[in-house]
Amino acid sequence: METINWSDLSFGYMKTDYNIRCYYCDGKWGELEVSSSEIINLHMAATCLHYGQESFEGLKAFKGKDGKVQVFRMDENAKRMQSSSHGIMMAELPVEKFEEAVRKVIRLNERFVPPYGSGASLYIRPLLIGSGPQVGVKPAEEYLFLVFVTPVGPYFKDGFKPAPVCIMRGYDRAAPQGTGTLKVGGNYAASLVAGNQAKEQGYAAVLYLDPKEKKYLDECGPANFFGIRDNTYIAPASNSILPSITNKSLQQLAVDMGLKVECRAVPVEELATFEETAECGTAAVITPISRIDDLDENKSYVYTTDGKPGPVCEKLYKKLQGIQTGDEPDPYGWTEEIL
Ligand SMILES: *Cc1c(COP(=O)(O)O)cnc(C)c1O
Repeated sequence: METINWSDLSFGYMKTDYNIRCYYCDGKWGELEVSSSEIINLHMAATCLHYGQESFEGLKAFKGKDGKVQVFRMDENAKRMQSSSHGIMMAELPVEKFEEAVRKVIRLNERFVPPYGSGASLYIRPLLIGSGPQVGVKPAEEYLFLVFVTPVGPYFKDGFKPAPVCIMRGYDRAAPQGTGTLKVGGNYAASLVAGNQAKEQGYAAVLYLDPKEKKYLDECGPANFFGIRDNTYIAPASNSILPSITNKSLQQLAVDMGLKVECRAVPVEELATFEETAECGTAAVITPISRIDDLDENKSYVYTTDGKPGPVCEKLYKKLQGIQTGDEPDPYGWTEEIL
């Protein structure tokens, strides 16, 4: 067996031993199946390929100080996948089946769970696709759910550091009443050009505005946005934002720390009033934002110049990460011990 250099992992794909599959046909889900193949056998007219019937999830498992492995809020991912499925007319997978698949894939790939203290974790990627053939524009009659895992390194190679983001009004990741609230691949395809342009100009991400009026903040490509001002955690509300489980968790922790939480439409101009701003999501928990450049209006909002995260972001980050690794008490039962 090969040895893995845990400190050298990136956020990328590595082959592991097993994945779990479950097929929907004749109107019902079958049993969970274990596979050791990385390949799926797919009909060339499958609706996921032609009409974008595809949704995915992302969550992590962590090894604690005591060697136990726990997974974070997987019921939330299961419910969100159901909501994504509903939104693009795919068969909904029962929450219990989703959870059973996640437990199973972690247990079977135990040797890939990074050790405590390495900063690395086991990333879990559930996927649901329309696998049945259609040529006319209709939902498939057959679906495939699968879950694979891959160990990933700490998101911040050189520590928890602020990064710049930009606003570009020439692109949207989702339409005003489109699929923005669903975790579907199409939104990601729509964000690739803008995301690539941003990266080429040295930005970590694009901060999208609401696609209808371009007056309010939406979210970053693959992560939600929040701002801190006057002891208040302010998160944009809109009908084109993906509801992040990290954001929801941070809001609870913010309340527990004595902050107020506001979830509402946030006008772009409000960026000038924030003390701290950040992106949040499973991959990095929190990415503090150093500066937001509005590339169309030639404006810059600067939050930190010393390369250090703001105090509220730092506190929230430590708290949530502590709960995930088992270093902090888990008063809400967000984690489940798997091994
Ligand atoms: C997955 C995702 C997020 C982050 O959600 P988490 O549940 O916190 O990982 C944010 N925005 C988009 C568009 C996403 O797809």
